[in-house]
Amino acid sequence: MTYENDPVYQMAVKQLTESAKILNLPEDVVEVLKHPERLLHVKIPVKLDNGRIAVFHGWRSQHNSALGPYKGGIRYHPNVTEGEVVALSMWMTWKNALAGIPYGGGKGGVKVNPKELSPRELEELSRKYFAAISRIVGEDIDIPAPDVYTNPQTMAWYMDEYSKIVGYNAWGVVTAKPKEIGGLYARIVSTGLGTAIAAREAAKRVLDGVENKTVAVQGFGNVGMYAAKYLSEWGAKVVAVTDSKGGVYNPAGLNVEELIKVKEETGAVANYKDYKKTITNEEILELDVDILIPAAVENVITKDNAPRVKAKIISEGANGPTTPEADEILRKKGAVVVPDILANAGGVVMSWIEWANNRMGNWLTEEEALARLEKKMVENFNTVYNEWQKRFHEYPMRVAAYAIAVERVVTAMKLRGWI
Ligand code: GLU
Repeated sequence: MTYENDPVYQMAVKQLTESAKILNLPEDVVEVLKHPERLLHVKIPVKLDNGRIAVFHGWRSQHNSALGPYKGGIRYHPNVTEGEVVALSMWMTWKNALAGIPYGGGKGGVKVNPKELSPRELEELSRKYFAAISRIVGEDIDIPAPDVYTNPQTMAWYMDEYSKIVGYNAWGVVTAKPKEIGGLYARIVSTGLGTAIAAREAAKRVLDGVENKTVAVQGFGNVGMYAAKYLSEWGAKVVAVTDSKGGVYNPAGLNVEELIKVKEETGAVANYKDYKKTITNEEILELDVDILIPAAVENVITKDNAPRVKAKIISEGANGPTTPEADEILRKKGAVVVPDILANAGGVVMSWIEWANNRMGNWLTEEEALARLEKKMVENFNTVYNEWQKRFHEYPMRVAAYAIAVERVVTAMKLRGWI
C-alpha cells in the first residue's frame, strides 16, 4: 500500500484541502503541500537473543523544509504505516510553523512492538534504524525526537550512533536527550505543561479562569500526567483520570501527586485508593466536567460520542483525538477545542530550546527555558484565538490554527521562489 491510500494520510490531506479552500490557495500549490519532499523506507535486520534474525520496517518522512530543517519525533508501534508517518510529518510542518520556531516538518516510525524486545535487541534496532537514516538527518537537516514508545534513552543511542558516523559529538542531531548529555529536564514536563497552559488560557476566555474548575484527563503518560499536575497546582480540581488499564473518579478531587506516585510504582492509575468509582476510557470523555484533556490516542472523540461530551474546554494533548465531524458538533454546542497542533506544541518548543542550547554551547537554564515556553505558548494561543474570532469564527478553532500555519509555510515557499 502506498501512503496515498492510507486513511490517516487521507485525513491529513482533507484537513489541508479544507484550509486551502478557505485561504483560496491554488490547486497546484496544494499539490506540492500534499506530498513529502523526501520519504525513506528502510529495512532493519536485528539479531534476536535467540539467535534468529528479524527484519523490521522503518520510515522517515520529510514533509516540508520551507521554514527550516525538518523536525519531529520517531515512534515505535506495531501499527505504524508509511501513510501514518507521512501524515504525522505533515502535521509537524503545521505545528512547527504555528509555534513560530525555525523548523519544517518530519516524522519517523518503526513497525515494531518494543515491549516484545529485550533491552539489547531494542538498542540494536535503534542504532541500526538511525544508521540507516543517517544520510538524510543532521543538526541542520533533520532533527528527530521521541514520540510514542521512544524516550530519552532511545535519543541517547541515536545521538551516539550518529556521532560515531560523523566523527564528532553531534549533540544537536536529536532532542529530548537525557539531561546529562545535552538535554533539559524541562523537556520531560514540557508537552503536558503546554497542554495545561492552553487549557488555562482558554479558561480565561470562556470560563473565569481555571481555579476550582473540574478536569478529566484521558491518558496518564508523559503528557496527561504533567497536564494534570500543573492544572491542579493552578487551583483546578482533577476529578478523573484514566490510562490504558482504566481509571478512577472522585467528584471531591483526586490527589495528583499521589496519582503520579501510584502510576510510577504500579504502572496503572486504577491502583489509586481514594476514589468514588472506577471509570473507563469511554466514560471519562462524557463526564460532567469543565475541562477535558484527551492525552491518549487518536480518534476518541467522534460524531457518535461528541453530542454527549459536556466539557466546555477540550485541550488536545494527543495528536488527532477529535475527528472533524466531532469538532463541528462541539463548536455548535459552544465548546472550545484547542487543536493538537497548538495545545501539544510544548514538547517541540522545548526541543527547539534544547537544540539551540546544543548549537550555542549554552543558552537558557532550566528555569529560563520554562519561562520561555510559557511565554511562547501564551503568545501562540492568543494569536490563534484572536484570529479565530476575527476571521474564522464560523469554523472550529482548528481551522484558524491550520490557516495561520499553512499561510506561513506558503509565504516562505513564495519568498524562496519554490512556487
Ligand atoms: N513527537 C513530538 C510531537 O509530536 C515532539 C517532536 C519534537 O520535539 O521534535 O510534537
